[in-house]
Amino acid sequence: MRRVLWIVAAAAIAGCFALSSLGCGGVAIADDGLVEYDGDIEHIFTHELVYDTAKAFAPDNRLRDCFDKDHLTAKEFGGLLDGLYDNGYVLVSLDRALDDAPLRLPTGKKPLVISFDDMTYDTVDRGCIDKLVLVDGKLCDHTEHEQTHTTRERENISLLESFIERHPDFSYDGGRATVCVNGYNGILGYRITPDCKVSAQRMQTDIEQCKTLVAEMKRLGYTFASHTYYHSYFDSTSAARLEKDCAQWQRYIEPIVGKTRVLCYPAGRHDAKSAKNGIFKRYGFDVFLCVGSYGGTDHERNCKDARYIYRKPFDGTALRLYGKQYAHLVDTRAIYDEKRFRPFSYKGGYH
Ligand SMILES: [Zn+2]
Repeated sequence: MRRVLWIVAAAAIAGCFALSSLGCGGVAIADDGLVEYDGDIEHIFTHELVYDTAKAFAPDNRLRDCFDKDHLTAKEFGGLLDGLYDNGYVLVSLDRALDDAPLRLPTGKKPLVISFDDMTYDTVDRGCIDKLVLVDGKLCDHTEHEQTHTTRERENISLLESFIERHPDFSYDGGRATVCVNGYNGILGYRITPDCKVSAQRMQTDIEQCKTLVAEMKRLGYTFASHTYYHSYFDSTSAARLEKDCAQWQRYIEPIVGKTRVLCYPAGRHDAKSAKNGIFKRYGFDVFLCVGSYGGTDHERNCKDARYIYRKPFDGTALRLYGKQYAHLVDTRAIYDEKRFRPFSYKGGYH
């Protein structure tokens, strides 16, 4: 596990951000009952979920600190979806949010983009699932340790799908989440690259299964982003290494998930003025996902050849620290999972 969320201190607090300037102020209700939305679009993200809190937060689990700080539990994610829905949010795809065409929504509804980072599932039997699978055409979460078990209650995507089945109006125009994957240990629980160090036969089997899964996810409306092949932190990665990272992504991951213009900076760490971004741009990336409640720097907002989009993290740390800043989205106190080993009153940050 490799992530330490980095949030610009000033950024962590400062209100909503404009993802795109949508609409032109029309508030008249048309015959179809829809109104043109004329506000900011929220963007939130989570990592893979902790479903087994006893295992994930056990004192002898060396990952428990990371699981607590950087992840939601399955119960919390379910509460988050309920809260967002009750507060009038509807899920729009990142592509739709990037489109300058006006969004027309039912009166009182507000658009929201969701992304999921990592989803590698390289922590078998520590409280997260092993992989996502398709069963009878439905996206499910799957574990094989102890006994084979498949549900729709333990991971963000399976929970989101069952939520949309119950509340179809939560998904605007079929919108789904953007999944930001790496490559060094495969994606979505499938060991599809040589770095996974599995047999050639296993790799081939996983590639075939993963292609089928991804095709169904894309059919449903999910989109994919590069979270860099090696989960490379921008500031500590040389230009040569970043070049290799992009080449690895293009060689091993792009054939599975397809071309994408979206690059999600690991831990949000980035410098939009760095020449290293030119490497990403040469590989076709021009939408950059960052971390924080922030509108971006002047340089980022005025950038002509790239979009910088800030996302609010949802994890243990954010639930504890950003209750006021997130109140319009959800009551973080109400959804906080008391099975965490840290109380809601704990005030430690990401480091
Ligand atoms: Zn990450």
